[in-house]
Amino acid sequence: MISNETPVIANSLWSATAAYSSEYPQLVGEQQSDVAVIGAGFTGLSAALHLAEQGLKAVLIDAQHPGWGASGRNGGQINVGLKDGPTGIKTKFGDLWGNRMIRMAGEAADLVFDLIARHGIECDAKRPGWLRAAHTHKTLSELHKLAEDWDNHGGGMIQLDQSEMQRLTGTEAYHGGVLDRRGGVLHPLNYALGLAEAGRRNGVEIFGETPANQITSEAGRFRIETPKGAVISEKVLICTNAYSGDLHLRLSQSVLPVRSVQVATSPLSDNVRQTILPEGNALSDARRLLLYFRQDAEGRFLMGGRGTYNDNSTLKQIERLKRISVELFPQLSGVQWEYEWGGFVALTRDHYPHLHELTPGVMTGLGYNGRGVAIATAMGRVLAKWAAGTKADELEFPVTPLKPLPFSFAKETLVEAEILRLKLLDKLGL
Ligand SMILES: Cc1cc2nc3c(=O)[nH]c(=O)nc-3n(C[C@H](O)[C@H](O)[C@H](O)COP(=O)(O)OP(=O)(O)OC[C@H]3O[C@@H](n4cnc5c(N)ncnc54)[C@H](O)[C@@H]3O)c2cc1C
Repeated sequence: MISNETPVIANSLWSATAAYSSEYPQLVGEQQSDVAVIGAGFTGLSAALHLAEQGLKAVLIDAQHPGWGASGRNGGQINVGLKDGPTGIKTKFGDLWGNRMIRMAGEAADLVFDLIARHGIECDAKRPGWLRAAHTHKTLSELHKLAEDWDNHGGGMIQLDQSEMQRLTGTEAYHGGVLDRRGGVLHPLNYALGLAEAGRRNGVEIFGETPANQITSEAGRFRIETPKGAVISEKVLICTNAYSGDLHLRLSQSVLPVRSVQVATSPLSDNVRQTILPEGNALSDARRLLLYFRQDAEGRFLMGGRGTYNDNSTLKQIERLKRISVELFPQLSGVQWEYEWGGFVALTRDHYPHLHELTPGVMTGLGYNGRGVAIATAMGRVLAKWAAGTKADELEFPVTPLKPLPFSFAKETLVEAEILRLKLLDKLGL
């Protein structure tokens, strides 16, 4: 776990405006459970809630508190889909798994909105759609092909030309793009803490400041050691994503944690507000090192992008995000930037999320490649079904062998090199 988070990225808009308490007691003594869930981000929270809804006893522990990781610090954009469009997914995974994955990814946002409605979670959730903006003619034609591909697999996207994109964004910077009507926005920390509350109401035992230090097995049950106690369980779900640390070294070596950072203004005046994303959409552009922006419920403008490992380059990235915001929307010139923060996303080698069985009875889902609000929630449900007894070959997502990344001991260098490569490809428009 990356526990000593640098102050450069520690304090988010979302923690400053959280409506629910994030205080959960530390585990002291032993807790018996059907399933122990380690990590209380969207993956673990959704898994624990779905287990409880199936009548199983789940104990959920987090090293810090629910929503402390990426789930409480992200852009709050509810994005749908996986790295490739439906045809690409089927080419890689075959028809059987491909179709299941397309359904899971296509319906992941429905699951988020359904959980919010069913459990009365107050997290400013809205569904105006997710814009994907093309910064080149090449990316425009790729996005329009993606929309056609989804049209043949249940639909969801509207193709936009330059003037339609300009109307929806308020900037002439893009050649057009697509509007994915399935997407939306929410307050991510309130969504996470609301899921925790819903879990607690449904019988999930939740503990904060309770890192899992070690997992051992005795007499057919697992024992998860924590600083002041232990969870004893039939099954274990590890939901630590980019914050996986020493608990399972090969697991943390299977993803590359990369910083993503964001900046937010203070609330904009009504007349400026109406000139930027007037219909309240979320937007990501189509760059490899993508930029993403939206407004929050109070009318702050939020801009995010990939950072790197060290604080100096992160600080430069923060300044760059502010500069780009003003280039896109000159009316932001002179506004006060109220918040700067970030967190770690987990990249995988194939840019798809992964589902693994680490040892019989110990499962994990991770690697959302920076797009996890919807899909991590859906992955949590898959993990819950698996832990509750559904066979691996009947799940909605394929279980694959765990493969540590080569040279993962040199993560920082790998991240810097990968970011340089992507920057170059973006610059060359390739
Ligand atoms: C700045 C930023 C912006 C993003 N923007 C978006 C966006 O707009 N839309 C989108 O879809 N996705 C976005 N993402 C990605 C998304 O937030 C993640 O994919 C998602 O939150 C991952 O959820 P998770 O539950 O798997 O992991 P996390 O939320 O990271 O949770 C992992 C948890 O595990 C805990 N933990 C770690 N080790 C231990 C241990 N040993 N014992 C107990 N607990 C442990 C941590 O404390 C942490 O709370 C963004 C990410 C970041 C960082």
